[in-house]
Amino acid sequence: MAKTDHCPICNVAVKPENLLRHLNDTHPRHPDTPRLREELRQEPGRTRPRGSSAPIHIKKWHVAVVALLVLGGFGVYYLTTITSQPFPCVTVTPDQLAYHWHTTLKVYSGSTPVTIPANVGLSAVCVEPLHTHDTSGTIHIETDVNRLYSIGDFYRVWGKSFDSPTQMNVNGTAVSPSPSVVLYDRESIDIHYVSFA
Ligand SMILES: [Zn+2]
Ligand SMILES: [Zn+2]
Repeated sequence: MAKTDHCPICNVAVKPENLLRHLNDTHPRHPDTPRLREELRQEPGRTRPRGSSAPIHIKKWHVAVVALLVLGGFGVYYLTTITSQPFPCVTVTPDQLAYHWHTTLKVYSGSTPVTIPANVGLSAVCVEPLHTHDTSGTIHIETDVNRLYSIGDFYRVWGKSFDSPTQMNVNGTAVSPSPSVVLYDRESIDIHYVSFA
């Protein structure tokens, strides 16, 4: 087949593999076009070989779909993570915190001490203003918001129900058990339950 061809209708020079498209694009309503189209379809080399321009469209399409899936998946993950968090994540540097306090929490199920897990309120994407770094029971209160937090707020971050303690002590002094007890710096809070789950 010749390197170039001529359109039978307008005689313009076109590459053989582009003639069909030229007819479709330039002479879509010419009376000879349907017949010429049929004839050209029978000839080899009239359609674009694989690997020229058509796969580029497919690639762009694939890239777009993959990007949407990845972004969509991340978006869902991000939203799920954010909406399951009681407080906005702390994003400031340590010197920009409103305050950084520590309170020690001890929880008892009957006479058995309950281990408060490390990394409560810490994840790859979020630092909660109330969190733990280890299993010592130290609650770190590190916030960029000028407000106080309560023991109930820590339970929410922990994912536990405050429920009905039988006894609650703040710095060794019995108080009426309540999730509203505010967390201050360098306190120790003991909370006793018949059974803690
Ligand atoms: Zn701390
Ligand atoms: Zn911390």
